[in-house]
Amino acid sequence: MKGLFVFRQDLRCHDHPLLLRAVNECEQLDLFLLVPKDLERWAQARRVFWDQSVQDLQQQISDKGSSLSIVTSLPNTRIYDVCYASTIFSYNEDKEIPKDGTWITEVVDQLFHDYQIKPMTQQFTSFRKQVEEGLYSRASIPESSIESLPPRVTQNPPVAFSMKSKECDSILFKGGERAARAHLKQYFWERRLASTYKETRNEMLGANFSTKFSPYLALGCLSPLAIERELKLYEKEVEKNESTYWIFFELLWREFFRVMYQKYGIAFFRKRGLKEAPPIFVNDGELFEKWCTGQTGVDIVDACMKELLATGYMSNRGRQIVASYLINEYNLDWTLGASFFEKHLIDYDVYSNWGNWMYLAGVGFDPRPRRWFDPEKQAKIYDPRGEFRELWLSSYREKD
Ligand code: FAD
Repeated sequence: MKGLFVFRQDLRCHDHPLLLRAVNECEQLDLFLLVPKDLERWAQARRVFWDQSVQDLQQQISDKGSSLSIVTSLPNTRIYDVCYASTIFSYNEDKEIPKDGTWITEVVDQLFHDYQIKPMTQQFTSFRKQVEEGLYSRASIPESSIESLPPRVTQNPPVAFSMKSKECDSILFKGGERAARAHLKQYFWERRLASTYKETRNEMLGANFSTKFSPYLALGCLSPLAIERELKLYEKEVEKNESTYWIFFELLWREFFRVMYQKYGIAFFRKRGLKEAPPIFVNDGELFEKWCTGQTGVDIVDACMKELLATGYMSNRGRQIVASYLINEYNLDWTLGASFFEKHLIDYDVYSNWGNWMYLAGVGFDPRPRRWFDPEKQAKIYDPRGEFRELWLSSYREKD
């Protein structure tokens, strides 16, 4: 069989059941990567992380004897009909991809498969209980790697897409599947950080307080199943405690927002979310600009925003504080904040980002109204010696 495989946010060769299936079923296989439509709008750190991840995929594919065509759209249907035997492998169907082929799709970025057939809940706690009661069937994928790839159908990939990442290499995270796997190994086996995750996860400074798996999960350099497998092994061989459970618990939040998106879709992007009417916002471009550039005058908020601008990452605690500030202190439209995060976050994930923003804005799945985080109190608890604020505010003072 001849096939066409389309990569998007599944930038990995390892632990990829669909790619494995394509390799096993096709004598010839073309590999395409569809460039995200809004790529040109991304901030630098997000773009660099993506470029690095794509380059790593490209290299791995080349090492396995094939090549990757990086394209903004797939070959048109006519050429495609001539060239291919109409079997398209992609983790979901896409209106940009020709419809006249046979589609083979599979869930490749979730822990469980069959959310849509169960009675749906709107609260995280009941979802977690359903999971723990075994209501959903597990996407169990044995660890799989691909040694070699079949030859391509078309010998010359369409015009290559040009990468920009050589222009800047200042981000903290290195993109790509191989960096992701090295990080996974280091997190569990070299630093053994899983044992203390619950105590440290709310901190804001440094590399070790939380797992930092999110950028790799967002681009599919790492699958949640690979993390879970490593976690189980760690629990068996090193230690099983509240912290190790809590990593799984947080991964369930990621799943929860995916489930909710399957149910509510477009409501994730509405100002009113799941409510009857949107909250009343003020329309003030200057305030928004202050928030975006980290110039609100509230140190903890400004430090978090500077960190985001410089690195494309912010801790979960930081995200809650700055989102609450935009929503509750400035009374601005929460969708502005969510869009700003979309542009900058290297771990941007449509479900987790919009789902968390909705939640904090009080238009999502939280039965309580808006969540308010007092920034001064948060700073005292989570940055008691002011080191996080000093790091990000002083580096900007030096530049000024
Ligand atoms: P850890 O604390 O180590 O957690 C392990 C994993 O669990 C994370 O990698 C992530 O996959 C998942 N997880 C943890 N907390 C959450 C959560 N609240 N919601 C969903 N999944 C979670 N996460 C994203 O991956 N992409 C986003 O675009 C995103 N936007 C957010 C926007 C706001 C306003 C808020 C409050 C949170 C957002 N989060 C987002 C969730 C969370 O902040 C990040 O997942 C986390 O900070 C990533 O760092 P980590 O991998 O070290 O997390």
